[in-house]
Amino acid sequence: MGIIRCLKCRECNKEYEAQFRYICEECFGPLDVIYNLPTSLNKSTFASRQTKNYWRYFELLPIADHNNIVNLDAGFTPLQHADRIGTTLGGLRNLFIKNDSVNPTFSFKDRPAGIAVSRAKEIKLRAVGCASTGNLASATAAHAAKARLPCYIFAPSDIEKVKISQALSYGAEFVAVDGTYDDANRVASVVGDAKGIGIVNINMRPFYVEGSKTLAYEVAEQLNWKVPDNLIIPVGSGAMLNAICKGFEELYDIGLLDDISRLKITAAQPHGCSPIVDAFKRRSDEVIPIEKPETIAKSLAIGDPGDGRYVLKRLQQYKGSAEEATDEEIVDGIMMLAKTEGIFTEPAGGVSIAVLRKMVEEGKIDKDENVVCYITGNGLKATEAIVDVLPKLNAVKPDVRLVSAMIT
Ligand SMILES: *Cc1c(COP(=O)(O)O)cnc(C)c1O
Ligand SMILES: [Zn+2]
Repeated sequence: MGIIRCLKCRECNKEYEAQFRYICEECFGPLDVIYNLPTSLNKSTFASRQTKNYWRYFELLPIADHNNIVNLDAGFTPLQHADRIGTTLGGLRNLFIKNDSVNPTFSFKDRPAGIAVSRAKEIKLRAVGCASTGNLASATAAHAAKARLPCYIFAPSDIEKVKISQALSYGAEFVAVDGTYDDANRVASVVGDAKGIGIVNINMRPFYVEGSKTLAYEVAEQLNWKVPDNLIIPVGSGAMLNAICKGFEELYDIGLLDDISRLKITAAQPHGCSPIVDAFKRRSDEVIPIEKPETIAKSLAIGDPGDGRYVLKRLQQYKGSAEEATDEEIVDGIMMLAKTEGIFTEPAGGVSIAVLRKMVEEGKIDKDENVVCYITGNGLKATEAIVDVLPKLNAVKPDVRLVSAMIT
């Protein structure tokens, strides 16, 4: 299993032993897991592995004892060659969709939640929980159920109904906070620390983010260890984007990838909540929080993104760009992906597609570039986002002649 060398402050580089700790006591910076990276891994190591989920990369994940793995078989999702949407967008030949909508709880959050709950089990915490915009609630609750740990969900009371139903059915307890995601986050943070609950995206955050870097490992392996040219990544808190970069860097460090200097990163946010895109366009390294996010992309409605600063750094480091999409463009993106590729995504994925489209139209993506567009959640999670653009149903009598006449 992965051998953790230390937790290291992302700001001042101070190192800590890997305990139940998540911020630097010197400077309050976030901590990252640093490994004694194995030297024995090569491309064929993975080719022969039977495990078809993200635990196939166990040497690079922060769990010491495999008995502590809480496994719902998440990850190793399809990387679909998106030739049809590529054609629709004017001839992109090497466009790929990383389809993370087909995870066990139907979003990529099964990756970070699975790692964090496993780690909570490993350090023998009595309960887990999360502050959630919806998807994380289900992912944490499902893994908690499998781990037989109590689970507390802190979320704004206006999250999508289906998302609450899903989380509650796994047996979680729901703390409906009458406020924004950021309010729920604040409450969860204090209560979690006080009660010794592993809040996966707060006090377990160093471990949580390790799950999302498998989105880099899988894409690299699925492209036969070739580095893509451009990644389109939807951004809420920014943790996933940052983790994907860490993933590619680790593969480079252990020699599985030759050169990651060609990699470009694109951050995609919804217009009604785009504090990171706004900062990028102002050429500022300061993210100004949005007080009241207003967007159909609820999964990305994080007004005060915890990793915003670091996303901006990554964009600098990787010749990045940042772009936003309006609600209308998001809906168009959802429909385009469904109609061309047969993949039904929630609005967060619509943001990725809409931003991809803009980048192509503005000539910022070349036809031959190898582009990976991350689709992070399933359309069944937010069907209310698209009802208005769907054709209205008109009932017809069960008469074969009438029905035949309708079909030309
Ligand atoms: C949480 C979430 C995101 C954003 O991830 P961050 O790590 O918060 O940036 C994107 N898409 C979906 C579907 C999500 O649930
Ligand atoms: Zn520090």
